[in-house]
Amino acid sequence: MNPLVYFIFYLTILVLSYKVKLSWSLAASGFISAVVFMLEIKRIPYEAVLFALFLNVMPFIAERFKASFASYKFRMRTELETTRAGYDNLLAEDKKQLESNLETERKMQQVLSLYEISKDMSSCLTFEDIFSIFSSALKKSFRFRLSRLVLLKTPNDGIDAVYEIELGRSYARVAPDNFDREIVSVILEERKEILLTRQENSQFLRRFSVVKDFETLIAIPLVSEEKIVGVLCVENISRGYFQNFLILAGQFAIQLQKVILYKKVQDMAITDSLTEVSTRRYFLERFREEVRRSMRRKTSLSFLMIDLDHFKEKNDKFGHLVGDVVLKEIAQILKSNLREIDIIGRYGGEEFGVVLAGISREGAFQVAERLRSSIEHSVFKAYDEKVSGTISIGISVFPEDGVEENSLIESADRSLYKAKEKGRNRVE
Ligand code: GH3
Ligand code: MG
Ligand code: MG
Repeated sequence: MNPLVYFIFYLTILVLSYKVKLSWSLAASGFISAVVFMLEIKRIPYEAVLFALFLNVMPFIAERFKASFASYKFRMRTELETTRAGYDNLLAEDKKQLESNLETERKMQQVLSLYEISKDMSSCLTFEDIFSIFSSALKKSFRFRLSRLVLLKTPNDGIDAVYEIELGRSYARVAPDNFDREIVSVILEERKEILLTRQENSQFLRRFSVVKDFETLIAIPLVSEEKIVGVLCVENISRGYFQNFLILAGQFAIQLQKVILYKKVQDMAITDSLTEVSTRRYFLERFREEVRRSMRRKTSLSFLMIDLDHFKEKNDKFGHLVGDVVLKEIAQILKSNLREIDIIGRYGGEEFGVVLAGISREGAFQVAERLRSSIEHSVFKAYDEKVSGTISIGISVFPEDGVEENSLIESADRSLYKAKEKGRNRVE
């Protein structure tokens, strides 16, 4: 091959080397090689030329490799860092997701148990039952410190009873404290639920003279027939649970309302609306139970049949409306002269029956005499009229006069007839 070709080739390499800024030493060694090549052109084999060329190009290749390796390393490091940051982010996201999943799960559990609870509560007919379900649901699904249920009296809004639920304890009836009274007055004023946190509502909390160390407080009015019948409070329930607690409390309020209405209907069936003593049916039921109990325990029992004297005349003279008021007041006086365990019922229009459990004839006469005397000495005011009246009472005693309620009633009726015959305002 023509050495000139090698020369031109080598020259091209040199120019390229120069163009790509190969080090000056490389250029110089190339130049020296070229000179040697020119001088010794005939004696140097072209393989040697190629080898020399290769040697000269090596530093260039090495430098290029080094540079690209450095940039590769840099790129890799940056990529690694980005990936690591991404991975860390993902980890954090994952952790957050897990927490929020747990929270969602807890809330779902709450919603599920809310459904279960409302189902359970809906089959309850007594206050004790719904409160017991409510209190165990509260303990199971919510974290809180203390819950109090304040029930109000009607119609004066005074506190009737306070129940307390604390974690790890069964619910208990407790005495009302000043905080209960204050929270009731706030709720009666606001007429809606209040959600307080110590940091956000310090202004509102100043309305309370009693300082309590809760962090959060929820107080909810319990309404029945548009009237506030109670207040449900819970302390230190976490903010995230407010919403579900309100749902649970709402369910409780609905069930409480149902229980109150049920009790009202029941009371209507067992309480005479005019005189507010037991209805005839309920009175007879309880009379029967008492006779059976006396039989089992072998104790005495007395029955009084009470009839108002000349009541028709009173009606004729003052009118039926006045007669009603007198009837009602007489019933109240009779009731107030009896013990809690005695049973009084409206047996007929202006007739009352009284069962005195554990009382023998002598005691029954004393009670009857007390009743007769207190009516005799009363004056009833009704629609600008002043009315007085008397009663006659017939007595029968278990077991002497009868061993079941019908015979006792008949016997008392006979005694009452005697009392009427002997001039009324008497006990026989
Ligand atoms: P006696 O002394 O013999 O018992 O005379 P009396 O007039 O009370 O006769 P009786 O016991 O038969 O009483 C029945 C009267 O009672 C008839 C009715 O005018 C009156 N009465 C019954 N139920 C009511 C009521 O719910 N309201 C009013 N105002 N009066 C009633
Ligand atoms: Mg009568
Ligand atoms: Mg009468």
